[in-house]
Amino acid sequence: MPGKGAPSARAGQRIGIKLTLEPGLTQQAVIYPYVFEVFSRDVHHKNKTMNHNFYVIAALVLVLGTPLIAAAGPYTPATRSLSASSPKYTAPTCFSNPSYKKTFQRLRDAAKGRPPAGNFRPLAKCLILAGKKKARPIIYATKKVKKKTIRDVKTGLKIGQRILGNTGPLHLFLVGNNKDESGPKGYDPDPQSRQLATAYCRSLKAYDLRDDLSGCISDWTKTFRKFDCCGAAHNPAAEFNGIRYQSFYYAGANVYSRQGADLTKVTLHEYIHTYQNNYTIWGNDIAAENAGLVEDYSPGPVWLEEGVAEYLALRIMYQETNYPSFISKMKENLESARWIKKTHGLTLKDVETRQGQARVNKICDGCGGRLYYDTAAWAMLYLESLVGEDKLIKKYYPQIPYLGWKRAFKKAFGMSINQFYTKVNRFMNWSEASQLRLLAAVKKSR
Ligand SMILES: [Zn+2]
Repeated sequence: MPGKGAPSARAGQRIGIKLTLEPGLTQQAVIYPYVFEVFSRDVHHKNKTMNHNFYVIAALVLVLGTPLIAAAGPYTPATRSLSASSPKYTAPTCFSNPSYKKTFQRLRDAAKGRPPAGNFRPLAKCLILAGKKKARPIIYATKKVKKKTIRDVKTGLKIGQRILGNTGPLHLFLVGNNKDESGPKGYDPDPQSRQLATAYCRSLKAYDLRDDLSGCISDWTKTFRKFDCCGAAHNPAAEFNGIRYQSFYYAGANVYSRQGADLTKVTLHEYIHTYQNNYTIWGNDIAAENAGLVEDYSPGPVWLEEGVAEYLALRIMYQETNYPSFISKMKENLESARWIKKTHGLTLKDVETRQGQARVNKICDGCGGRLYYDTAAWAMLYLESLVGEDKLIKKYYPQIPYLGWKRAFKKAFGMSINQFYTKVNRFMNWSEASQLRLLAAVKKSR
């Protein structure tokens, strides 16, 4: 079983940036602590090339006829030149409400990670709306990134948009390092790493996530040059920002793309994180975070966040595209989940908090990753077998801003998290044949 990347870089969430690292992203990719500073609130790039895509599309339409118009919608993913300035997005009109502005500032200063007293529903709606900006996801890719690679990414985004609705603004960054025979160390650093780092850092700066452009570019040039194979990471939105910009970047996307539909699947996995993040609107609870507790108004423990992203990505791929690896990957996950239970007796509750995660990783290297992804994916399959397939997306996440994750969990699924832990532990003792019957019962099309 290849290395399971633990999302250890969650430390970054302290100041509103959290990085989720996916299985397979190599250690080389986690050299930097990913703690981005939030300083500037007044920098926006003028978008000189805003109409560029329009002219290109118009020219193509003249040549090829009208079907292209029908194909492009307000959320259709688009590629953009690495040298283009970052698009200028606008905040929803509710953000100009002076009393909202004051409240957001107060909440930001308090760093309590929870809604204010009183009727906060309109504020919550305003923040959620900001994360559903009517804007096309933008893909920044170097020349070494293959056309098929970009197509696979676009497919993943489109499936995500169809099932989860639009989240954004969203930018994606692809470096073209190839793990193949030609590189001296088994891979070639992409010669456009600096240009990609520039596009990446310009975006971070334009949407208030990082201030020092030159330091950022130098850090990320080094990082992109070292990216090997294969993985992706997600950066969540800045707290209380009218532009809830999110981004992903990939390691070894060309290699991933050559491995069948895995790049599409990982894109969907990351897109599910954007959906989860869209309901994480009250910032970070610094005290809870420092105490290693699960924050109330977060998507829940890391296993739940990752288990949902991984399981839903696999299931949705299976249902939307006949993804052939759904069954085989879930079987691998089950072997891993059964192994960790049998060998170490470890459960999801053991990795609920950061102290728990540290303890588990001392017991067994990589056990944390197995629990967050493998055991948790099966816990989610089991959960859906009990409550139905639409509850996670439709009932759980949308209630988190109002109830916090624990109460939202109870309301959506009709059981507390502790009751669920007990049930999952019993489920993990089922015979393998009975467990696999749940997998066989997943309908291919809904
Ligand atoms: Zn993830």
